[in-house]
Amino acid sequence: MKKNIILFMLLLLTTSIISCAQQNIKPNNSKGKEMSVKVQKTDKEWKESLSPEQYQILREKGTERPFTGKYWNFDEKGIYSCAACGQVLFDSDTKFDAGCGWPSFSDVVNNKNVILKDDYSFGMHRIEVICSNCGGHLGHVFDDGPKPTGQRYCINSASIEFEKKKDDVHK
Ligand SMILES: [Zn+2]
Repeated sequence: MKKNIILFMLLLLTTSIISCAQQNIKPNNSKGKEMSVKVQKTDKEWKESLSPEQYQILREKGTERPFTGKYWNFDEKGIYSCAACGQVLFDSDTKFDAGCGWPSFSDVVNNKNVILKDDYSFGMHRIEVICSNCGGHLGHVFDDGPKPTGQRYCINSASIEFEKKKDDVHK
């Protein structure tokens, strides 16, 4: 009998943890179709054009260790593009310090530049952020970001490349 109660409590705990992690952000590939992206390369070609770390994150959906990437503690003004294909993804104006050890953005430059996909790995429901041009894994988006979007794009430094804003050069 005691065992049953413990099991019940465990179940309750698990359910509440899962519901806390639920998202209000909706995936934008809800049709469930396989993505067709413009930049198509074989695994061999990706391995040749990316560093081992970039390949592991962008192509194998890895995650860099927090507080290790080059952009989590970086606040220069500029544009962040996909490290695999160069598509513009984030603006430094939307970058904020989420304290989580990964670069965080409250918005994307253009919603069409990312694919948001349900991700049920590791027993939780998250929304994966993918580059719409090459299919590269960027990170995840959560709905606990700052206003007005309320979104927190939690992105791997290895998936993006920073470039200074051109008009800042003349200032
Ligand atoms: Zn890309």
